[in-house]
Amino acid sequence: MRTQVGIIGAGPAGLLLSQLLHLAGIESVVLESRSRDAIEATIRAGILEHGTVDLMERIGAGERLKREGFRHDGIHLRFDGRTRRIDFPELTGGKSVYLYPQHEVIKDLVALRLRLGGDIRFEVKNVTLHDLDTTAPRLKYANSQGAVEEIHCDYIVGCDGTHGGDRGELKSKLVYRRGI
Ligand SMILES: Cc1cc2nc3c(=O)[nH]c(=O)nc-3n(C[C@H](O)[C@H](O)[C@H](O)COP(=O)(O)OP(=O)(O)OC[C@H]3O[C@@H](n4cnc5c(N)ncnc54)[C@H](O)[C@@H]3O)c2cc1C
Repeated sequence: MRTQVGIIGAGPAGLLLSQLLHLAGIESVVLESRSRDAIEATIRAGILEHGTVDLMERIGAGERLKREGFRHDGIHLRFDGRTRRIDFPELTGGKSVYLYPQHEVIKDLVALRLRLGGDIRFEVKNVTLHDLDTTAPRLKYANSQGAVEEIHCDYIVGCDGTHGGDRGELKSKLVYRRGI
């Protein structure tokens, strides 16, 4: 099959990217080595900065975050017998952070992408990159049934995070452009 952008990894980066591309009218396929249940249950980050919250809202994934997340307007630092409040909105012209766990962000993004017809392939194995220095780069992988499949892409983006498999080859976070 063909797609415009092949994305490796359904973490926050890969899922956000696929939604941003969708909003720009660009199709993508996301390949994820773990199951949907596993990525939606992995406990990691908890604090979302202002820019992330803004972005989630802009792409249509911020409704539950705003409803259930905990807006966090500051911290107290105790030093030399005195308590000082660091007031985020006061110091930043109204900006704040939200306490909203990363796996909830993942749940919202996966649900949004699937609702909009997005193509996320879970439990794929052995993702390999081919022909990167040609005009027709390809992704090869074994699907969840073990069958080997291939995707021809215009671009391939490694969003496989810091725990990615073969980082030597996948080159986490790099974008491979067709034809260069
Ligand atoms: C304990 C902890 C606390 C943190 N707290 C915060 C916080 O409070 N605020 C904050 O903003 N950030 C925090 N972070 C950082 C945040 O979790 C990361 O920045 C974020 O997860 C990075 O997202 P990502 O999509 O780049 O990578 P990841 O979340 O790592 O996602 C990569 C995805 O790619 C998949 N994958 C990997 N290799 C392959 C492969 N070969 N083929 C197919 N799929 C593959 C993985 O299964 C995974 O689902 C924290 C991180 C940790 C560990």
